Amino acid sequence: MKKVILIMALFLGVTACKVNPFTGKKMLNFYGNKQIFPMAFAQYDQFLTENAVVENTAESRMITKVGQRIASAAERWLNANGFQGYLNDYKWEYNLVKDETVNAWCMPGGKIVFYTGILPITQTERGVAVVMGHEVAHALADHGAQRMSAGTLQQIGAVAGNVAIQDERKRNMFNQAYGLGSTLGIMLPFSRGHETEADRIGLQIMAIAGYDPTEAAELWKRMKAKSGGQAPPEFMSTHPSNDTRIQNLTAWAPLAKQEAQKFGVTTFQ
Ligand SMILES: [Zn+2]
Repeated sequence: MKKVILIMALFLGVTACKVNPFTGKKMLNFYGNKQIFPMAFAQYDQFLTENAVVENTAESRMITKVGQRIASAAERWLNANGFQGYLNDYKWEYNLVKDETVNAWCMPGGKIVFYTGILPITQTERGVAVVMGHEVAHALADHGAQRMSAGTLQQIGAVAGNVAIQDERKRNMFNQAYGLGSTLGIMLPFSRGHETEADRIGLQIMAIAGYDPTEAAELWKRMKAKSGGQAPPEFMSTHPSNDTRIQNLTAWAPLAKQEAQKFGVTTFQ
């Protein structure tokens, strides 16, 4: 199987495996930032034109502020661990959209949307930092790109002998991988493994940003309570909560604080 992947990678003309700094794992990834990010940026801009962006309110400014702090924490972590330049192609953007859907997401390249509907659950800046850290972690760990590569493998398998991925097909792959296109802004669920990774990475970067990571377990308890209601949060459909998740977050919070101390962060808001 490895040989097959290697041959396909050669055909595709890109590196199939690189080590992700956040997970230390080799990732299957046919698509570099330069291929994926422009598609994500275009989709994001289109999403913003089709939705009501909230501007110049205390809440929208808070989303931007938390996003900037989280992105800056991620950069400090990367620089400290020898991954300078990892974020070169990222174009961070943080927007609040007026929509009662309980959701938030981050597209590849750092394009973030929070819906006003999630604010009653995040409640505070610290709660926003939990969701922001988690979503940014998905983007930093290239989870979407890996899903896209997995989809590509399936497609290649389906059309044996035809490994030329044309632009149109690449776009379709992208839309499938991110659940975008006709249902713009609706994200497909990540695998449980990716969720766990995003939880762990998210805790670390929120702590380095100076936010108390013990809030994460509390937020997921609130999310879980809400899921019992008549209208389960959209966020829950892509981020199923369970007791294991809450237990993990509780256990990892002190470790995240220890990591933050390496960056001189000793108090958490
Ligand atoms: Zn997630």
